[in-house]
Amino acid sequence: MLEVKNIEKHFGSTQVLRNVSFSMEEGNALAIIGSSGSGKTTLLRCLNFLETPDSGSIAVKGEMLYDASRGASQNERELRKKRLHFGMVFQSFHLFPQYTALENVMLAEQLLAKERPDYKQNKKAILDEIHAHGEALLKKMGLEQRENHYPHQLSGGQQQRVAIARALALKPDILCFDEPTSALDPELTGEVLKVIRGLADQKTTMIIVTHEMAFARDVADEIIFMDDGYIVEQGKARDVIEHPQEERTRQFLSRYT
Ligand code: ATP
Repeated sequence: MLEVKNIEKHFGSTQVLRNVSFSMEEGNALAIIGSSGSGKTTLLRCLNFLETPDSGSIAVKGEMLYDASRGASQNERELRKKRLHFGMVFQSFHLFPQYTALENVMLAEQLLAKERPDYKQNKKAILDEIHAHGEALLKKMGLEQRENHYPHQLSGGQQQRVAIARALALKPDILCFDEPTSALDPELTGEVLKVIRGLADQKTTMIIVTHEMAFARDVADEIIFMDDGYIVEQGKARDVIEHPQEERTRQFLSRYT
């Protein structure tokens, strides 16, 4: 489903990703753990083409999306198309403050619909369908009573659930989370983790950067441990957390127990 090979990334003279290679299966949840600055966010941003890797390749469902060896130039339109493979949920929600919850969820689908050749002809039916889809996604997140609320009228946990619904709207192949609960008060963390757990139960393909070790162990199928830009260890979630093979993984995990 996802094949990442030999990704390297520098910021100036600092190397942030070093020979990163991994693959994942459809329907699996992959958690990425590691200390601050180890390169987890940069890796997610490379997958989503928010950053351009210096070398390496990324393929989804057999389609080569990026191959540095073939030259990296791509225009905005191509990039937007490639990004559709990945849904992104950020630490700090990034909802549009001027739009309601439902409008936030519908926006990308509405913009994309305008590129359909039958848009003018079938505008009402298309927009009705998008509306119904947006409502269904908010319902799935337990937010059917909140669709007309603006972000500032929602709790952090509710805002993050809107952001998850928005990321699901374009039916991405892989849903990516960058520390989805780090900006939340502890009492709001649970409701977001519950939603992600539900998505895992429904076999949504997900990559989750997280500092929640117990959650990673219980919800992810596999875990990658990163340190200093390297993948140090990858394996079944429970094995990595309970029986780490590498000293660096053991040291990292000992800080969480
Ligand atoms: P955290 O858990 O704190 O979010 P992380 O593992 O996600 O950390 P990254 O955010 O990927 O780590 O950062 C890896 C390194 O790259 C850090 O040293 C960071 O300062 C550096 N870095 C990230 N983005 C940039 C950038 N745009 N320009 C320069 N350096 C950057």
